[in-house]
Amino acid sequence: MIETASAVGHAHDDNCIFCKIAAGHIPSRKVYEDEELLAFHDIAPWAPVHFLIIPKRHIASLAHTQPADAALLGRILTLAPQLAAQEGCNPYPAGGFRVQINTGEEGGQEVHHLHVHVIGGPRPWKK
Ligand code: ADP
Repeated sequence: MIETASAVGHAHDDNCIFCKIAAGHIPSRKVYEDEELLAFHDIAPWAPVHFLIIPKRHIASLAHTQPADAALLGRILTLAPQLAAQEGCNPYPAGGFRVQINTGEEGGQEVHHLHVHVIGGPRPWKK
């Protein structure tokens, strides 16, 4: 059974690397931070611009979100283009960026804390 209790779910998972980053216990190269979101550069970038946007609250994956998380997800998606521009992605349409949310093992998710990849910059990219 899929656990879907994100909106009322755990605020922090002691075993989660992204919770540790959100709490400042593991260092990251921050791109943006507010009360509920953190963006930081990916440690193994696929492209000239590659950062992650995460909710500070522990949500295991996109599959664990509920309707009550809609505003949070909307904030992440509207933040993505602002931060992409800030980080040097060229403007739409010749420029642009990719937003990717790997979900579950078959979706390629390795870190089980919801994160949105924002990838861009001049091609070619690794992936
Ligand atoms: P994948 O590794 O297949 O991309 P995910 O979608 O779960 O799977 O992505 C996790 C991402 O987190 C990876 O791109 C990885 O490089 C990045 N990452 C892991 N640890 C850190 C860290 N300490 N700081 C920044 N990025 C990290």
